[in-house]
Amino acid sequence: MEKVIIVGGGLGGLLLAILLERASLDYVVLERLTVAKHPLEGGGVIAITSQIQPALKQLGLLDKLKEVSKPISRITVHEVEQGGGKQMAPCGVIDSTFSMGRPELYNILVDQIPAEKFLLGKQVQEVRQNDKVAICRCTDGSSYQGIIIGADGAYSTVRLSLYHQLKDAGLLDARDYKPMQYEQQALVGMTRPLEPEQFTLIKSEHSDTRVLVSQGGKPFTVWCVPMTLNRMCWMLDQPLAERYDCPDVEDFSSNQQRANEMCAAYRSMQSPLEGVLLGDLFDMTPAGTMLALPREEGMFVTWTHGKIALMGDGSDYSRQYCKGVRKQ
Ligand SMILES: Cc1cc2nc3c(=O)[nH]c(=O)nc-3n(C[C@H](O)[C@H](O)[C@H](O)COP(=O)(O)OP(=O)(O)OC[C@H]3O[C@@H](n4cnc5c(N)ncnc54)[C@H](O)[C@@H]3O)c2cc1C
Repeated sequence: MEKVIIVGGGLGGLLLAILLERASLDYVVLERLTVAKHPLEGGGVIAITSQIQPALKQLGLLDKLKEVSKPISRITVHEVEQGGGKQMAPCGVIDSTFSMGRPELYNILVDQIPAEKFLLGKQVQEVRQNDKVAICRCTDGSSYQGIIIGADGAYSTVRLSLYHQLKDAGLLDARDYKPMQYEQQALVGMTRPLEPEQFTLIKSEHSDTRVLVSQGGKPFTVWCVPMTLNRMCWMLDQPLAERYDCPDVEDFSSNQQRANEMCAAYRSMQSPLEGVLLGDLFDMTPAGTMLALPREEGMFVTWTHGKIALMGDGSDYSRQYCKGVRKQ
């Protein structure tokens, strides 16, 4: 079988690489970052739901992941209505979902892959194919030939390059001409280790998750997820006034500015933790580790052609779970 060229060493690309490693198939991962760390390092919890657990178990990773995570015992939602009244939604008991920090998950996945098959500093800028070969070219002048998997995230270069070529050839489904869009943005972060006597929620072996949904003048949703090592992961979702088209290429430069604006706008708001404002959570989070993210959505019809295929956020990017606050 031909070599598999995985473009992108994020969660999806790494999991595919582990599968190929276990099946003794030839592959290489090309990652644009120059150090092995998840783009959401610092900020970000990941909930490992029951859908993905059988695959992780088969790979022998499930127990390892559970060691550095907490089972989500329940999710309690507080809704703050327009007039300031408060209502407690029923508590949900979660099946077998557990939560962990993205850096921990990422590091465990990276450890499963031999270093010589995980190439850093390899930013793919273009993919091309004809009847016989598919090839991808990197910004450093190198190129790789084989079966190409675009695991390069929401702003996939592989998708962009493939779609341009299919469009020029009249082969792209018309539904894929539409750009990704977003109408929400999120700010995510993870506090430094907190004092358990002050924040009793983090003492528990379970993750008793708290959510606050505010439909007031400045609507928002905040999740607080107790983590291992006495940390609290939090995520603030803000609906935007309109729906925006995403640019073709991810714009990192606007991230810090967006984060600062969201911090300033929401500092004085209540968090789901009693007596704790969002500003307190921001201040308990190590400087420079918060991330602001547009909540892009795009469901693409074309996910493969010839020897090129897309996976993960590169092919199917939806944010249904975070729609706590809807625009009026
Ligand atoms: C705030 C937030 C919370 C979330 N919570 C959950 C959750 O609880 N559970 C869950 O299942 N999912 C969750 N998700 C979604 C999940 O994070 C994504 O679905 C997942 O990370 C997608 O993996 P991926 O490998 O497709 O892309 P990514 O993880 O984005 O990885 C893409 C990789 O490709 C690299 N790359 C990009 N362009 C190039 C290029 N041109 N050349 C080479 N490399 C490139 C990037 O550097 C990156 O390493 C959440 C997402 C967000 C933003």
